[in-house]
Amino acid sequence: MSGGAGARLADGAVGAPGAGAHLITTHERCGPVKAAGPVRGGPVYSRPAMSATILIVEDEFAVARGIQYALQQEGYQVAVAKSGEEGLDFATNQAPDLVVLDVRLPGMDGFEVLRRLRASGSKAPVLVLTARDDEVDKVIGLELGADDYLTKPFGLRELMSRIKALLRRAYGDLSDAAGGRVIRHGDLVIDLERRRVQRGDRRISLTPTEFEILRHLASRPGRVYTRSELLELLRDYEALDQDEKTINVHVSHLRDKIEDDPAVPAFVMTVRGVGYAFAER
Ligand code: CA
Repeated sequence: MSGGAGARLADGAVGAPGAGAHLITTHERCGPVKAAGPVRGGPVYSRPAMSATILIVEDEFAVARGIQYALQQEGYQVAVAKSGEEGLDFATNQAPDLVVLDVRLPGMDGFEVLRRLRASGSKAPVLVLTARDDEVDKVIGLELGADDYLTKPFGLRELMSRIKALLRRAYGDLSDAAGGRVIRHGDLVIDLERRRVQRGDRRISLTPTEFEILRHLASRPGRVYTRSELLELLRDYEALDQDEKTINVHVSHLRDKIEDDPAVPAFVMTVRGVGYAFAER
């Protein structure tokens, strides 16, 4: 990830009473959950479009802010949720690449967030933050599908290296994302490996079927696919009870999500009487 001045991480313990405060450069409160841009480096668009998004679910402001700042220094997009409910909502709707999840949260605790997240089908790596020496928390967390855990108080360097290892394990070397497994058309970015779609820095959540249609079309711009062809390509992917008309429905939903104006598509074109084609450059 980006280095430079941002690579100089203070390795103060985070999560210990009073610790982490030296990492906070501003006194802004954590607002409602939103993806925050990097602290430095100008507009978000100057960053690689695929910089990983990390969700922090932690109610303790100093801890959350310390982690957020450190991650932003490394070039990650960061969102902070102050409750389990907020975190689960963001995680299921925005599909972050990784979740740092505190166990001790008011209301819905971290375990319940993790349980529901996995039940929703999310495979995003989850790093659980547990209380000191709480072996039970570690075991429960791992059983519920956490990928790693860290015991408070922890050092930011340790956290950062765990996060990078998890991202590598889950997605491979992120720098490979520019090496051909990503289709770009204008500000539409289709990451084939991670099965992720973005417009600019806005993540677009597609169903598996929508993604497959987009993947096939965008892989060969200008090539016209008939509905029956698309249906055939999707055959392994979805229920068998689909007919050609359902392709229209999926394409319609896909357009609603990726096009500025679904009635005047810029990406997925209708070839009247034949089928669909992805726009040529
Ligand atoms: Ca907490």
